[in-house]
Amino acid sequence: MAEASGTMRVEVVSPERILFSGEAKQVITRTLEGGEVAFLPGHAAFLGALTENHTRIYLVDGSIQNLAVHLGFVEVGADHVTILSDSAELEQDIDVARAKAAKERAETQMRTEHSTEVEADLRRAHARLSAAGGLNSSH
Ligand code: ATP
Repeated sequence: MAEASGTMRVEVVSPERILFSGEAKQVITRTLEGGEVAFLPGHAAFLGALTENHTRIYLVDGSIQNLAVHLGFVEVGADHVTILSDSAELEQDIDVARAKAAKERAETQMRTEHSTEVEADLRRAHARLSAAGGLNSSH
């Protein structure tokens, strides 16, 4: 049983494809209302809306699958965590140069116009750079 072995099934899915599917020990993501949240096996049922964030999936082999998730939902049960998002990228698929360029573009725009759209552009760029290890050393 997944719970007894201390793992749970984690899936990250977009309407077109399954981005990630596997067993994990923990998932850390960020909800709109609750900030950063950690889910472990055996967690109570939970449904939350996600903000643009650097999500971490702690795999059974001790490694971490980092990913950028841009809005969507997380659905949690005792033996699973499912993230549904229109837009998400695995660490290994993130183009760091592109995200840096997007961040600089958004920061430049912010100086002249403070639109919610530019703020969202910046949050996506930050999530990508953080997931790709380009924002800080702690990753
Ligand atoms: P840009 O300004 O660089 O296009 P964006 O935030 O406007 O960035 P989105 O509209 O969020 O881009 O995404 C469009 C598509 O490009 C999505 O499929 C997304 O996964 C992909 N994408 C965007 N930026 C990157 C990146 N830095 N690395 C990998 N994929 C990216």
